[in-house]
Amino acid sequence: MNNMTYHLVTLGCQMNKADSERVMTIIERLGYTWTDKEEMAGLIGILACSVRQKAIDKVYSRIHRWNTWKKNRNLLTFLTGCILADDRKKLLKLFDFVFAMEEIPDLENIIKQYGMVTPVSLNTSKPFNLLEVDEQNGKLRSDDFAPVRSPKPGFVNYQSLSRQQNIERIRNFWNIDPTYSSEFEAYVPIQNGCDKFCTFCAVPYTRGREVSRPSGEILEEIIQLLHRDYKSITLLGQNVNSYGRDKKGAEISFPELLARIGQLCDESGKEVWIYFTSPHPRDMTEEVIKVISRYKSLAKQIHLPVQSGDDEVLIKMNRKHSMDKYRKIIHAIRMHIPGATIFTDIIVGFTGETNNQFESTRMIMEEFRFNMAYIAMYSPRPGAVSSEWLDNISPDIKKERLFILSEELKKYSSEYNKRMIGQTFRVLVTGCDRKEGFLSGYTEGKIIIRFPSNNHNLIGKFVDITVISSADFSVEGLLSTVRKAEIIDR
Ligand code: SF4
Repeated sequence: MNNMTYHLVTLGCQMNKADSERVMTIIERLGYTWTDKEEMAGLIGILACSVRQKAIDKVYSRIHRWNTWKKNRNLLTFLTGCILADDRKKLLKLFDFVFAMEEIPDLENIIKQYGMVTPVSLNTSKPFNLLEVDEQNGKLRSDDFAPVRSPKPGFVNYQSLSRQQNIERIRNFWNIDPTYSSEFEAYVPIQNGCDKFCTFCAVPYTRGREVSRPSGEILEEIIQLLHRDYKSITLLGQNVNSYGRDKKGAEISFPELLARIGQLCDESGKEVWIYFTSPHPRDMTEEVIKVISRYKSLAKQIHLPVQSGDDEVLIKMNRKHSMDKYRKIIHAIRMHIPGATIFTDIIVGFTGETNNQFESTRMIMEEFRFNMAYIAMYSPRPGAVSSEWLDNISPDIKKERLFILSEELKKYSSEYNKRMIGQTFRVLVTGCDRKEGFLSGYTEGKIIIRFPSNNHNLIGKFVDITVISSADFSVEGLLSTVRKAEIIDR
């Protein structure tokens, strides 16, 4: 008898998290049920991203542990996600099977190839058609979305697929109803892949070329989420604001999509914050910024990766934007959305980065006063163009540069947070804080806030908090009002 439980570990970014929610739906359609205890599961998988070495290191440590369990019991292991060819080759030997996320509708066949039966197939005489239509919502008609299958389970070589094949694969995947892991925060993929080819990045090789999801499907998912009272929705894509460009006029543009979502949410009468990540500076237009300023539901927080403050480094990174362009965007944000918070991503110690070039990056910390910056020390990723170049900045220098930027970030973030003292903010409560007797959440600008309360009914709800003190990257406050209707249990 099969052990009918499964456990899935997700290692990576928000996009990986959103992918997991669809992978879980398919596994559950096969009849498996979730267990929190991976040591009890009959099917264990990892959805990982080899764009970051850390995630791959964790994959190795997990699979070695799981493989020791196989001595005592039946266990099936799988790997999926955005995995580079080099990592894939090594990991193939350690897992029972690997597959690209878009191959998930084929999961039952993949499992059967390993001589296993799925819980659903134990109870049905005909094979379970994962692509058949859902009578409730009419989704996933197998004849509408004929899957493009690789001859054997395994990862797809995206460069060998035509654009049309890529589109069909990812559309099948998007049409799977996600098993949302939160009851109030949701991630909605609107675009997949990347055409930018930054030299340090392997995403175009792990995810393939850009494909935009049809706007009708996106709006439909947003409507469903509004009906279910979701409070925070993040639109996801590797290059979220180049949405629609691959369709060459046959699809609406990113600002048009944002405007439709903003209007839909505002008119719904629901309180909701809509975020998007990550946009590329090259495609960031004043129109996008004006649309955000126009609709209440579009959150006034923008995550705009800069990567470096130096034009020569940006050229070497093939970022396709200059500091002049970035500066103009920031000015436009400050002009049209004065209260917006701005987050960024920065890489220090990129191949050949000189002291002067690093200094240019340090100076933009002061100039732009980011609320948050995710700062990474450069490390070459196999598959990315820069992995062929000498990684000639020593780890010590990288660490020092990381430290310097972190200190700069702290300075401006804490100044901003200090100015919040005495003001009252709308806050989405997300869970218990590490500090005992406190709950935590975030403001519309994604500033972390904690407040004393043991009322767990507030989790997933909006409350008003008056800030009384601040730290480098968070603030503390007191519950000022709770809209009574909102704290009634669902
Ligand atoms: Fe990678 Fe650059 Fe594409 Fe972002 S824009 S996913 S960093 S290649």
